[in-house]
Amino acid sequence: MTSQKPAVIVHGGAGSIKDDSLSARLDGCKAAALAAWTILEHGGSAVDAAEAAVVVLEDNPLFNAGTGSTLNRAGKVEMDAGIMDGDLLRAGAVAAMEGVKNPIKLARRVMEDGRHVILAGKGALLFAREIGFPECPPHSLIVERERKRWEDKHGTVGCVALDSTGKIAVATSTGGVFHKLPGRIGDSPIPGCGTYADDRGGASCTGMGEAIIRIVMGKTAVDFLSEGIDPAAAARKALAVLEAKTGVQAGLIMIDRKGRIGYARNTTHMPVCFIADGETIVVDS
Ligand code: ASP
Repeated sequence: MTSQKPAVIVHGGAGSIKDDSLSARLDGCKAAALAAWTILEHGGSAVDAAEAAVVVLEDNPLFNAGTGSTLNRAGKVEMDAGIMDGDLLRAGAVAAMEGVKNPIKLARRVMEDGRHVILAGKGALLFAREIGFPECPPHSLIVERERKRWEDKHGTVGCVALDSTGKIAVATSTGGVFHKLPGRIGDSPIPGCGTYADDRGGASCTGMGEAIIRIVMGKTAVDFLSEGIDPAAAARKALAVLEAKTGVQAGLIMIDRKGRIGYARNTTHMPVCFIADGETIVVDS
């Protein structure tokens, strides 16, 4: 059954690119989108395509995912990755994960296994909560200097794919935010937050995970599709919600069930590549 024209969109993280790596990042996104497209045009599944695109980006040291991930406060790499199959609402993720080259592949295995949705590595213990220490909103502690520092360390990667059977899948992978506490888990592995797909569309988000989680940005963006608007408008609306509620910077990519593409950011950069209707577009969105 092949009636739907496939489509794919890939992002290489929202932030501000201050070095001269923008064109190399755009090339990296294009290579990833083409890896997914090769699968889709041969009738392969959206899940396989989304995973393949993210593997390419995890293996590219320019991006903050897999090889090249940013360091936490202990000077270690702890990665988050999540994948979601919009057809059956299956999801799998790994979080605060050390010692695997391609966390997205492991996330896929968690999904296929089916017993759990998210498995966290060491550091899942939230000491402060256990001892009942008073909490405050994470963004209230963020000063401009540290926000800028985070912006220099962007490069989360993500892919949304629609296959020829009309199924949508999303994969997102990240080293997280620079200097994060060991055990910190961002939005990327959490279904509905950094990664979300159902039968209406899919979204992969990038930006300050603490804010993305609080507005459930991926699901919020897909929910907007039910208003009859296209993914470009839905992405902008979700970003507006994030901005209004948290004042934080981010970006997201989307595809709906018709294969329409959308993306939005309020950061300086977000390298994107999408392929639809046989056209390959590479853009610093
Ligand atoms: N969303 C990621 C996180 O908070 C970071 C990013 O997209 O750059 O872990």
